[in-house]
Amino acid sequence: MKLILLGPPGAGKGTQAQILIDSYGIPQLSTGDILRAAIAAGTPLGLTAKAVMDRGDLVSDDIVTGIISQRLDEDDCKKGFILDGFPRTIPQAESLNGILSEKGITLDAVIALEADEETLVARVLKRAQESGNVRSDDNENVVRTRLNVYKEQTSPLVSFYEDMGLLKKVDGLQSIEVVSAAIKAAIE
Ligand code: AMP
Repeated sequence: MKLILLGPPGAGKGTQAQILIDSYGIPQLSTGDILRAAIAAGTPLGLTAKAVMDRGDLVSDDIVTGIISQRLDEDDCKKGFILDGFPRTIPQAESLNGILSEKGITLDAVIALEADEETLVARVLKRAQESGNVRSDDNENVVRTRLNVYKEQTSPLVSFYEDMGLLKKVDGLQSIEVVSAAIKAAIE
């Protein structure tokens, strides 16, 4: 199963990716997680990414596209993968199409998790409050920036993948179980 999970911050991409990992035994490729690991390790990539991420802006297309291209070559991606948080811009989606066709990989579906803005802000702030491990990009101003960035730069991907015939829309505001059942119904 080769999937993209698309959706605004707080729509439940990470939670649903975890359920899909358990059901299908395929890895989640999260550019956000890879960048946070680079920051924690203090690598040059991490140093470049940190300020941008703390503001809620996007890291450059070249950086994340390179990360994903390398990651797709690893053995665990052979039987499938879930792209979570990538692509986030039209240029990234176009590069991804090129990378996949070079590697001879075909996507099965793009799942778009839909949710309204105020619910998302409340969710992300609650996640920040509840977790001991607070993300530095989870305060209200930064959350609003991330939602605006999503609207302007990422939401055009919905029609991009609709045009490719790959898009499946799922209402992300239902319970975790209902959302995951809807995703499975959409991809099977
Ligand atoms: P996430 O964990 O997916 O919410 O990503 C956290 C942050 O990492 C984002 O707000 C961006 O700053 C950066 N990031 C993650 N994925 C991408 C991407 N595909 N393109 C650009 N920036 C990204």
